Amino acid sequence: MVKWNGVGERVEREEMSSGGMGTVGRTLGVLADTWTLLILQRAFLGVRRYAGWRETLNISDATLTARLRSLTEDGLLQTRPYREGGRPRLEYRLTERGLDTWRLLLATWAWERSWVPREVPLPDIVHRECGRATDVVLCCAQCGAPVGPQDTSVSIRGAVAGRGGLARVHPRRTRGRLPEDPLSLLPGSMEIIGDRWGATVLGACLVGVRTFTDFEAQLSISPEVLTDRLRRFVELGIVVRTGDAGYRLTDKGRAAFGIHACLVEWANRWQAADGAPVDLEIRHRACDHPLRLQLNCSGCGVAFTRTAVAPPSAPSRAVAP
Ligand SMILES: [Zn+2]
Ligand SMILES: [Zn+2]
Repeated sequence: MVKWNGVGERVEREEMSSGGMGTVGRTLGVLADTWTLLILQRAFLGVRRYAGWRETLNISDATLTARLRSLTEDGLLQTRPYREGGRPRLEYRLTERGLDTWRLLLATWAWERSWVPREVPLPDIVHRECGRATDVVLCCAQCGAPVGPQDTSVSIRGAVAGRGGLARVHPRRTRGRLPEDPLSLLPGSMEIIGDRWGATVLGACLVGVRTFTDFEAQLSISPEVLTDRLRRFVELGIVVRTGDAGYRLTDKGRAAFGIHACLVEWANRWQAADGAPVDLEIRHRACDHPLRLQLNCSGCGVAFTRTAVAPPSAPSRAVAP
């Protein structure tokens, strides 16, 4: 286990005791995929049927079929029969574990909205309880204090996304084929969680890994992929190069902590429930509890609940399971 104190100093190390993929490694295989995230986003907006995703995402049949199958097998969606024109069909509903990705999607939306310049702004985040267009403040659900990466310690067991550890579930998306409506265009976030390597490199940056050699050693990542990701992170302004050939997170990069922490929290709740060993844990140092994020409304200070967020494009009702 590698243990970091939150300011980039390695504290202790021990070998991973059990083989196989851990919670976060598995989660990256499930969630870190652009199309998967867009399908989930639309499910929260009320899309349940194949044709609904097909139309709103302009996604190919092969891609949509494969993603719906994965999401069902991974337990985020479940099928329910219905009849259309006398013929039996299936629709897809978010399960409890699918619904529990709402924090990840909200953190992603908030970060993209605040930090990634764009021609057509993302819709406002509206808090139903206070009625305000607002922003999200990351807090610890245990003690209520605001929390950033500097307030946490991180324990890592094994390589979270080892080179040979995780077969690619879906082919990497082809650039330029994504829908171009404002809701689907999340260029910054998708560099971070649109595939597993972006998420993995961000996670390493957040614990203070700074040099190419250390990234390589910590992540079991190929030099080509690592070079590509670091270059894109520099272009996006998530890290800057430092004089000593290192990389340092910018404010924009540190603000992406919410996305990372929500991903880890989901992983450690649901993949651990399936018996996967916890391979990465974030603790809040002030209260010394595993970090569970509470996303507070910056307008009224109250914690968001899933149904108190008006979804982008704001349909009139909250999404039922
Ligand atoms: Zn706390
Ligand atoms: Zn509010």
